[in-house]
Amino acid sequence: MPDRNESGPLHGRVVAVTGGGRGLGRSIALAAAAAGADVAIAYRESEAGAKSVADEARSLGAEADVHRCDVTDRDQVFAFVAAAEQRFGRVDGLVNNAGIMPETPFLETTPQEWDRVIATDLTAAFHASQAVLPGMLERGSGSIVSIASRLGQVGWPGVAHYASAKAGLIALAKSISREFGQRGVRANCVAPGVTNTDMGRTVMEGEVGRKRMAELPLGRFGEPEEVADCVVFLLSDASALLIGQTLNPNSGGLMP
Ligand code: NDP
Repeated sequence: MPDRNESGPLHGRVVAVTGGGRGLGRSIALAAAAAGADVAIAYRESEAGAKSVADEARSLGAEADVHRCDVTDRDQVFAFVAAAEQRFGRVDGLVNNAGIMPETPFLETTPQEWDRVIATDLTAAFHASQAVLPGMLERGSGSIVSIASRLGQVGWPGVAHYASAKAGLIALAKSISREFGQRGVRANCVAPGVTNTDMGRTVMEGEVGRKRMAELPLGRFGEPEEVADCVVFLLSDASALLIGQTLNPNSGGLMP
C-alpha cells in the first residue's frame, strides 16, 4: 500500500465527486486523492472509468469507493452521500461536477430538454448539497464546490438552459454561503472555459473552437488537471476566506 500524502492540503478529508468516472470529474477525484483525501466517486454510465479512477486513487495512497448515481434522481444522490458517510465516517468536501451540455437553438428547445438540463446541471447540486449539509453542520466545517462555466456568466446562443443552470449554481453557492458560512460551511464555484474532455472537445475540434482559442488572452484551452487544481484549492483550508466566490480558470476568457 503506497503512503498517502500526509502533508497534502486535503489530508484527513473525505471528498465526494459526482460524474467522477471520466473527464473533469476523473481529474478532480485524482487531484483530491493526490492531495491526501479519501474519495467517493459517483458515476452514471462510466462504471469501468470510475473503477479505474478508484484504482488510481488507491495507488496514490487514498481510500476510494465507487457508487452508481444518476444525479437527477434525488434518492440516488442521497444514497451516494449516505454510502460515503457510512464508509468514511463523513463527507468534508462535495464536488458537484456531473453535467451535460446539449446544443439546441433556443426556439427549438423543448420543455423536456430544458428540464433535463436544469435537473442535471442545477437541481442535482441542490439535492447533493442538502444531502451533505447536515453532516457538515454537525461537524462545523465543510466545503461545497460546484462546477459552473464561463457561459453561466456571459450567456451563450444554443445553450440557454445550460448557461441558466450554471448561473444558478453561482447563486446557489452564494446563498448556501450566506445561510451557513457562520456555521463553518463554504460554497464556491469553479467556472472553466473550454477544457480538454469529451465535452470540451466537441468545441475544440471545430472551426469555431480554433477561432475562440486564438481570441483567448492565454492563447490555449485548459486541461482538466489545471481546473482540478482550482477545485482542490477551494476544498482546502488554503481558501478559508473564499466563500460564495467563482474562480475562473478559463484562460482569460472571462475577466470579471
Ligand atoms: P464530460 O461530458 O466529459 O463528462 C460528463 C460527466 O458528467 C460524466 O462523468 C458523466 O457521467 C456525468 N453525468 C452526466 N449526466 C449525469 C447524470 N444524470 N448523473 C450522473 N452523472 C452524469 O464533461 P466534462 O468532464 O467536461 O464536464 C464536467 C463538468 O464541467 C460539467 O458540469 C460541465 O458542464 C463543466 N464544464 C466543462 C467544460 C468543458 O469544456 N469540458 C467547460 C465548462 C464547464 P457518466 O459518464 O458516468 O454517465
